[in-house]
Amino acid sequence: MKAVVKTKREPGIEVLDVEVPEVRDTDVLVKVRAGSLCGSDVHIYEWTPNYEFLPLPIIIGHEFSGEVVEVGSKVSTVAVGDRVTAMPGMACSRCSFCQIGKSEFCTGRLSLGMSANGAFAEYVRLTAAASIFKIPENVDYETSALSEPLSVALHAVDLSNIKAGQTAAILGPGPIGLLTLQVLKAAGAAAVMVAGTGADGRRLEIARELGADVIIDVEKEDPVSKAREMTRAYSSAGLDFVFEASGNPRSIPQALSMVRARGTVIAIGIHPANAEIQTTELVRRSKSIIGAYAYDQETWLRSLVLMASGKVRIEPMVTHRLPILEAKDGFELAISKEAAKVLFIL
Ligand SMILES: [Zn+2]
Ligand SMILES: [Zn+2]
Repeated sequence: MKAVVKTKREPGIEVLDVEVPEVRDTDVLVKVRAGSLCGSDVHIYEWTPNYEFLPLPIIIGHEFSGEVVEVGSKVSTVAVGDRVTAMPGMACSRCSFCQIGKSEFCTGRLSLGMSANGAFAEYVRLTAAASIFKIPENVDYETSALSEPLSVALHAVDLSNIKAGQTAAILGPGPIGLLTLQVLKAAGAAAVMVAGTGADGRRLEIARELGADVIIDVEKEDPVSKAREMTRAYSSAGLDFVFEASGNPRSIPQALSMVRARGTVIAIGIHPANAEIQTTELVRRSKSIIGAYAYDQETWLRSLVLMASGKVRIEPMVTHRLPILEAKDGFELAISKEAAKVLFIL
């Protein structure tokens, strides 16, 4: 089968012919139908720091959907023919935590595309049936391939405890930012600003199409005064929430200035360097910064429901569809920010 493989500890990937994985008694083999390129895949492609732990060679990719084509003799929860997505973290079912039903603390967890062969391939082997979810009937493979980033965005919005009628901004109109926008609107946000740079032109247009009330290019307009202007009508002089999804350390202090007294900054982006924050403003105006990472099974299920209900739309975010033979082009499109979401279609 064809697969996108990281073979060397240097920038780049290769598309290689490799063996279809063998199915053992607790495994599930899925014919991948759509793979979605994630920021972390791009980091692996560019070979930025913090990925040295990857065992090479490894098939990358963890956002995907597909059809079950084979199940091991001990698997009863999924069947051949099921249309599925799966959480990339796969508990081992053997360690002491898994045995007492606390698989969230699993010490032998394998992660698709990071420590186990991933999904940018014709077939992917899943070793934990509990992490597999059936796709609702009215949701297609392309849409459900984004269950993972939608779960990340949904978890971040859950953590904010936003109430209908409150206001928010999102810094960074990448896939996570665009999904966070849609979840915020579904949760009843009164007004949402999406901020990006000049290079984000196309992504900001998609944000507008997906319901952003205000979009700004931070190279041309000051997001702090824009936030004040935007919330004047609600007499709150600042936003209730700012979601940091750009991964730029400078945007953390900016976000802190954009929220009102007692407002909250939710950090989702992975930053290559530490941010400097205005501690006095944080203290005197009783602001908070919280980190949002990953999700759980319940979040994943609600992501599928949001897609099925049409409250979250994926189609406008998919700017490029490529066969995996052209995987390199996909990575380059993502790096140039020309793409919002790149899908590999199999
Ligand atoms: Zn991802
Ligand atoms: Zn375990």
